Amino acid sequence: MHDPPIPLPQLQPLQLSLSGNYRAICNHLLALTHSRSLRRGLQLHAHIIKTGLETIPLLSHHLINFYSKTQLPNSSLQVFNSSPHRSATTWSSLISSFAQNDLPHLALDFFRQMLRIGLLPDDHILPTAAKSCAALSSIHVGLSLHALALKTAYHLDVFVASSLVDMYAKCGEIGYARNVFDEMPHRNVVSWSGMIYGYVQLGEDEEALRLFKQVLVEEDVGVNDFTLSSVLRVCGASTLLELGKQIHGLCFKTSFDSSCFVASSLISLYSKCGAVEGAYQAFEELQVRNLGMWNAMLIACAQHAHTNRTFELFEQMKSVGGVKPNFITFLCVLYACSHAGLVEKGQHYFELMKKDYGIEPGSQHYATMVDLLGRAGKLQDAVQVIEEMPMEPTESVWGALLTGCRIHGDTELASYVADRVFEQGHVSSGLNVLLSNAYAAAGRWEEAARARKMLRDQGIKKETGLSWVEEGNRVHTFAAGDRSHAKTVEIYNKLEELGDEMAKAGYVADTSFVLKEVGGEEKNQTIRYHSERLAIAFGLITFPQERPIRVMKNLRVCGDCHTAIKFISKITGRVLIVRDNNRFHRFEDGKCTCGDYW
Ligand code: ZN
Ligand code: ZN
Repeated sequence: MHDPPIPLPQLQPLQLSLSGNYRAICNHLLALTHSRSLRRGLQLHAHIIKTGLETIPLLSHHLINFYSKTQLPNSSLQVFNSSPHRSATTWSSLISSFAQNDLPHLALDFFRQMLRIGLLPDDHILPTAAKSCAALSSIHVGLSLHALALKTAYHLDVFVASSLVDMYAKCGEIGYARNVFDEMPHRNVVSWSGMIYGYVQLGEDEEALRLFKQVLVEEDVGVNDFTLSSVLRVCGASTLLELGKQIHGLCFKTSFDSSCFVASSLISLYSKCGAVEGAYQAFEELQVRNLGMWNAMLIACAQHAHTNRTFELFEQMKSVGGVKPNFITFLCVLYACSHAGLVEKGQHYFELMKKDYGIEPGSQHYATMVDLLGRAGKLQDAVQVIEEMPMEPTESVWGALLTGCRIHGDTELASYVADRVFEQGHVSSGLNVLLSNAYAAAGRWEEAARARKMLRDQGIKKETGLSWVEEGNRVHTFAAGDRSHAKTVEIYNKLEELGDEMAKAGYVADTSFVLKEVGGEEKNQTIRYHSERLAIAFGLITFPQERPIRVMKNLRVCGDCHTAIKFISKITGRVLIVRDNNRFHRFEDGKCTCGDYW
C-alpha cells in the first residue's frame, strides 16, 4: 500500500510536468536554492523520494547544493549517502557544502576519500580544497594539492591558480604564492587580492601598494572589497592619508564603501592618520553597522581620547545598534578608561564583561587594567589583579606595572617585579629597558648592569626616534637633530624663533627627560631638536594656518617635547596632532587632549 501523497499546494502549477519531467524538478529546485526556500525545498525533496527520482545523479547533485546553501551540510551528506551512483559532480557538491559551511576538515577528508576511490579532481573541486587548506592554514595539504594541480594540468586554469595563490598567501607562504602568481598567463581579482593580502599580512606594505597601483593601471580586472580593504589597511599602518583618501574615492565609486571590511578599514585609516573627523564621517554614513564597524569606531574614539564619546557609542551600540559587545569592544572601552585615568569606570566595565556578558578577560584586558591602576598609583590593586590572572602574566602586564612603579617612584616594588620577570627567562628588549631602569632607580647597580648587558648580548639596537609629516603624496621624515631636509635652514630658524617666544611665555626646558625617558639616538641630541619638533616646524612653514599639522612618531613623545608642543600650539594658534607609538595627542591653545596623562 502506498501512503497518500503529501499535498503540495504551492507547487500546483508545476504538478503536471513534475510527474514525468525530472528536468522541470531540477529547475524548480534551482529556483528554491537560489531563494533559500527551505520549507518548499523539503517538500520537493519528499516528492522526489516518493516518485523514485532520487536515483538520478543530477538531482542528487542539486539536492546537495540546496542543503549546502540552506546551511544544512548534514542533510547534504544524507543525500550523498543515499545516492547509488556517485559521480565526480556529486562528490564535488558535497565537498563544497562542507567548505561553504565552515567545515574545512570534513571538506578535505572527503576530498581525500574521493581521490582514493580513483575519481579525478576538476576545476571546481580544486579551488574548494585550496580554500579549505587556507582556512586551516594547512600548508602541507596545500603543497600536495598544488602537485595534484600540476599533474592534472589544472594549474593553467585561472580559477585553480588563483585559489593556489590565495591559499599560499593565507598560509603565510608569500614566496610560493608569488611563484604561482608570476607564472599565471591570466590573472583575476582573486589572485591579485590574494597577493596584496599576503604582502599586507607580512608587513611588506610597499610591495602591496605597488601591486595595487599595478592592478589599477595595467590590468583589466575590477578590484573587490577584499583588495580595497587590504590596501586601506596598508595606508592606515603607513599613515598615508592622501593615498587613502584617493582609495576612499574609489570605494565610493564602486559602492564598496558600505562593505563591512571596507567600512571598518576606512574608519581605522582616518583614525590612524590622525584625522578622526574622517572616521566619524565614514561611520555616520553607514546604513547598517555590524560589530566590526562599531569596534573600529570605538578604537578610534579611545585612541583619540574621546573618552565620553567612547562610552556613549558603547551604549548606542547595544541599544540602537542591537549589537552585542565582544572581547575587542571591552578592550576599547577599558583602553579609554586607562588613558583617561578613570579607575572606577574601568573596574565597572571589567566586571560587566565577565558578569553580564560571560566574556573571559584575556591577557590584554588584564594588561589594560594593570596599566589603569598602576598609573593611578593604586599599585597594590594592580598587583592583586596580576595575582588573580588565570594565565601567566605577559610582558605587557609586567611592563604596565613597572611603568606604574616608575611614575609613582615605588622603587622597591619595581625591583621586586624585575626579579620575578627575570626568573621567567626570556625578556624582550623593550621590557629589558624597563627592568634596567627599575634596578637603577632602586640603587641595585649590579642588576641594572646585568640587564643592560643582556640588551647588548641580544644584539638589539634601540629604535631610532623618527617623526614624519605627509605633504601631498610625499612623506617627510625627520630624525633628532636631522639636517638632511631641503628646508633645513628654514626649519631651524623657525625653531629658534619659537624658542625665544616660548621662553617669554614661561617655558623652561626640562632636561631630565634626556636621560630618563628617551632611548636610543635621541638621547645624544639636545631635546630642542627632537624629531617631532623638526616635523612640526616643517609643518608650520609649509601648511596654511587653518590646516591642522599631523605628525607621526614611532616612539613615545618625551615629557619636555609634550610641554614644548603645548606652548607652540598656544603661540602659533595652530592645531597640532601628534601620534606617538601609543596614542594621539591633539594640541590646541596650549592644551593637549591627553590631559598630560599618557
Ligand atoms: Zn622629546
Ligand atoms: Zn598629550
